[in-house]
Amino acid sequence: MIVLSSPSGAGKTTISKKIQQKFSNFKISISHTTRKPRANEVDSVDYFFITKDEFEKKIRNNEFYEFAKIFDNYYGTSKKSVNDLQDKNFNILFDIDWQGTNQLSKYKELNLVKIFILPPNKDELKKRLIDRNKGNADSIDKRLSSYDEDKHHWNEYDYILINDNLENCFSQIEKIIKKELNQVTLPTHNS
Ligand code: ADP
Ligand code: 5GP
Repeated sequence: MIVLSSPSGAGKTTISKKIQQKFSNFKISISHTTRKPRANEVDSVDYFFITKDEFEKKIRNNEFYEFAKIFDNYYGTSKKSVNDLQDKNFNILFDIDWQGTNQLSKYKELNLVKIFILPPNKDELKKRLIDRNKGNADSIDKRLSSYDEDKHHWNEYDYILINDNLENCFSQIEKIIKKELNQVTLPTHNS
C-alpha cells in the first residue's frame, strides 16, 4: 500500500490518478470528508461527501482507520473502504495528510510505503492553488499557511519527491512502485 502526502496543492491527487491509470492493480482509497465538493468533483468517486453529523457518528462507531480535521473540515479513511479493496486484492493508494499517515503507520499489517511530495517553491504552490481554485470555495490562505507547517513532516516518509515537472515526478514514482513491487528488471548481460 502506498501513501502519498504533500502540502495541499503540490499535486498528489493528480499523481494518484496517474498511478491508478498506469497500474491497473492500484486503486485509490476514497476518503470521507465534510468539505464541499469542488466543481469537478463527483460524490463516491473523489470523496464520499457527508455532513459533520454523519462524520461524527462514524467516529463514535469506530468506523475509521484514521481521521483528521484539516482546514476546518473532517477527512477520514473508513475501514470498510480499505477492507473492500483488500478483499478484491487491489494494491491501495492513500491520498492523505501527515496526521493520517501517522495514524495509519500504527497498522503494521498495512505494509505502507510512504511518499512525500513537495512543490518546487511556495510561489509555484500559490499559483497552483489559485489555478485549481477557480469557481471553488477553498481557502487559499489557510492552505498556504499550512504549507509552512506541513513541509516539516518530510522526514516521516520513506521517499521525498519534488513535483516540479509532472512527468519527471511521475517517472520517479513509477520507479519506486516497480522497486517496491520487486518488478525492477535487472540490466541484461549485454546492456
Ligand atoms: P493536491 O492533491 O496535492 O492538493 P492537486 O493534484 O489537486 O494537488 O494539484 C493542484 C493543482 O496543481 C492542480 O490544478 C493540478 O492540475 C496542478 N499541478 C499538479 N502538478 C503540477 C505540476 N507538476 N506542474 C504544474 N501544475 C501542476
Ligand atoms: P483537499 O481538500 O485538497 O482534497 O484535501 C486536503 C487535505 O486532506 C490533503 O492534504 C489530503 O491529502 C487530505 N486528506 C484527504 N483525504 C484524507 C483522509 O482520509 N485522511 C486524512 N488524514 N487526510 C486526508
